Amino acid sequence: MKIIVSHDVDHLYGRDHWFRDLIYPKLCLRSLLLFLRKQITLRECGLRLLSCFSRRRNCIDELMRFDRANGVPSVFFFGMNQGLGMSYYPDEAKAMIKKVHDRGFDTGVHGIEYRDLKLINTEYRRFGRLMGFGPCGIRMHYVRFDENTFAFEEKCGYAFDSTEFDKEKGYTVKAPYKVERMWEFPLTIMDGYLPQSYEAAKHRTLEILEQCRKSGVEYVSVLFHDNQFNNAYTDIRDWYIWLVNTINSSEKDTFISYGDAIRELEENNGR
Ligand SMILES: [Zn+2]
Repeated sequence: MKIIVSHDVDHLYGRDHWFRDLIYPKLCLRSLLLFLRKQITLRECGLRLLSCFSRRRNCIDELMRFDRANGVPSVFFFGMNQGLGMSYYPDEAKAMIKKVHDRGFDTGVHGIEYRDLKLINTEYRRFGRLMGFGPCGIRMHYVRFDENTFAFEEKCGYAFDSTEFDKEKGYTVKAPYKVERMWEFPLTIMDGYLPQSYEAAKHRTLEILEQCRKSGVEYVSVLFHDNQFNNAYTDIRDWYIWLVNTINSSEKDTFISYGDAIRELEENNGR
C-alpha cells in the first residue's frame, strides 16, 4: 500500500488565540480532565497548561526535519480563513507557508467554508494571491463536508481533496475516486480519532491497515496534527514516529505524496 501523510496546521502562534477564541480555557479544562482520568501524565498536563503562554503553537520545523530525514513526502494544510479554533490570519501564515514550500513540501488549504461555492473559491484564490502559487489540494477543517462540497472544490480548480471521513467509525476504508477532474482521497486514519494510549493507537492502526489491505485500498491517507509533535503529547507523537518507522521497515508499504498518487491513478485510469 501507499501511505500519504498530511498535517493540518490548526495553530501557528500563541497570539492566534488572544481575544480571538476560547482555545485556552478549553485546553486547560480538557488537560485537567485528562490528567484526573489518568489518561495523561502530570508532566504532559503541566506542559499543556504552560503552552498557553508560549509564543509558538506549531511544531512545523521539527516535523519537517523528521519527515525529511525519514523520506516522508508530507503535505501541510494552512487555513485561509478563521473558525472552530483555527484563528490565525493568512498574512500571519505567509512566512511559514513559504518556508514549508521552499523546503520542498507540498502546501494546501485547510478549508473553513464547505457549503458555498463562492466562499470556497475565496479561500482558494486567497492562497494563490498570497503565495504566488496555487494550493496543491485541500482538506476541510474538522473534516466538514456535505453533498456539494467536493463538486464545488473541483469547480474552484483543486486537484484533490482529502476530507471524506467516517466520524461514526473513526476511520475510513475507501479507495480514492474522481469527482469530475478532481481526486477525492478519503481520510483513512486521523490522529484525534485513535485511542488515546500509545499501545491502543498502534493496535487500532494495524487493524485499519489490515482492513485496507483486505479491501484492496491501495492509497491510505493519514492525518497527524503538527502541534502534537512535542513532549506534551507523548502518546500520539510516539505513535506517529512508530507509524513512520513501521512503514519504512515494511517490504510492502511505502510513502507517497498526493501529487505522485494522482499521477499513478491517472496512468492506471488511462490504461
Ligand atoms: Zn483542522
